[in-house]
Amino acid sequence: MLSRLSLFAVFLIAEAADWHYTGEHGTSDWPHEYPDCGLVRQSPIDFPKTEDMTYDSKLTQFQFTGFDDLSRYSLVLHNNGHTAVIKVTGGDLFVEGGGLPGRFKTAQFHFHWGHSDNEGSEHTFDGHSFPLELHIVNYNEKYGSLADAASKDLDGLAVLGFWYEVSHNNNDDIAPLIEQLSHVPTKGSSVPLNGFNLAQLLPIHNIQSNSHFFRYPGSLTTPPCFQSVVWTMFQQTIPISSQQLSMFRALHEDQELQSDHFLVDNFRPIQPLNGRVIYRNFEVTAVGETQATQTTKPKRDMKINVRMHLV
Ligand SMILES: [Zn+2]
Repeated sequence: MLSRLSLFAVFLIAEAADWHYTGEHGTSDWPHEYPDCGLVRQSPIDFPKTEDMTYDSKLTQFQFTGFDDLSRYSLVLHNNGHTAVIKVTGGDLFVEGGGLPGRFKTAQFHFHWGHSDNEGSEHTFDGHSFPLELHIVNYNEKYGSLADAASKDLDGLAVLGFWYEVSHNNNDDIAPLIEQLSHVPTKGSSVPLNGFNLAQLLPIHNIQSNSHFFRYPGSLTTPPCFQSVVWTMFQQTIPISSQQLSMFRALHEDQELQSDHFLVDNFRPIQPLNGRVIYRNFEVTAVGETQATQTTKPKRDMKINVRMHLV
């Protein structure tokens, strides 16, 4: 019988695991085929109203190492049939702080999206869906590798999540990535992502200095659903135009360029909290202040020019 670790290793190497989001082997079948998918600390979840979360003063700001230095890393964009993933194939990128249990090494970035602008995010906020969600997957360096860390309960992985919101104009900061999506149209296709600055994808300077985020213990949102993830979702959203979103929906989930099997709706339904407490890293003393926080005008980071909105 395969151990959990070797099962995951097989999954990583062969990508042979037969799972989907709908139909046969869809999300409701996952717990039968991957038992951890039926446990009680699963992801994604619906975040409650800000005032219904619990303030935790130990959730300090994050520190990112290496993200804004192009010479320190190499990237590959890959269509694996389930998502578009940016793999860090060379270089050492690290995330620490933020109340994380240790230093975490960044392995990959990937996305979840819908068939329309009305849905697509995995996590929701007070019942509200977003059209796109970015996950930055980092593993606890004490475990040595992504495969080893992925099965370690509670502290193996730290995933940072960002919601996108539809904007009228294209987001120039992610345009170089969007353009490359056309080079990975089918499952299995890859392209080097040369000259792409990860600091443009995630607003590092804002995150390090003044970010509001939410924290809870959860799981991988795809089989084998290991409950090894320290989840962080950032309150500020990132803009993206409908036209840019449509480029994600032009990807195929199979190897046939002519097929109509487009890669869309690659998000898992929200999972029950089962008593989990959701934390936030900022205080709200009154409902009025909460409202003011959420409607504050977007901050502009002059250095990397990432435009952001608040949830
Ligand atoms: Zn994900």
